[in-house]
Amino acid sequence: MAEIEKSVKRIIPIREGLFGIPSESGEKPRLFGSRCNPCGQLSFPPRKVCSNCFSEEREIIPLSTDGKLYSYTIVEYPAPGLLGPYAIGYVDLPEGVRVFSILAGWDRKSLRVGMDVELTLGKFKDDKEGNEIVTYQFRPVPPSHPSPSRGEGKGGG
Ligand SMILES: [Zn+2]
Repeated sequence: MAEIEKSVKRIIPIREGLFGIPSESGEKPRLFGSRCNPCGQLSFPPRKVCSNCFSEEREIIPLSTDGKLYSYTIVEYPAPGLLGPYAIGYVDLPEGVRVFSILAGWDRKSLRVGMDVELTLGKFKDDKEGNEIVTYQFRPVPPSHPSPSRGEGKGGG
């Protein structure tokens, strides 16, 4: 009767409808985009009205988790919720959507335009109740150079 689950921390997305938080570990987070039914234009974040044909007929679809870094900048000064230096950039997804994102897991030497990046979730801040506010981020994918010593084949691509 007196059991009050006060200490249960929840994970809350920074904004509803932007991305899905995996319910099981091992599952990948996904960004959601909108696809216009009449003209096929994809948008992230999802739009209510198509910027191309102004239609409101759209569906929400999960976007690819891997993309290429189109452009980035390193910001030396802190911003609300972000300690400096931090990196932000644009990521091109295979669907043809350009996503503005915080970058994670980077260092100054490794960041370069055109590199492969993958979607991840990261803590943005805690809210007043101690819940974790998370946001989507992209991080560099470790280069998969063929190594002669280990035969860990990864199919597909
Ligand atoms: Zn359209």
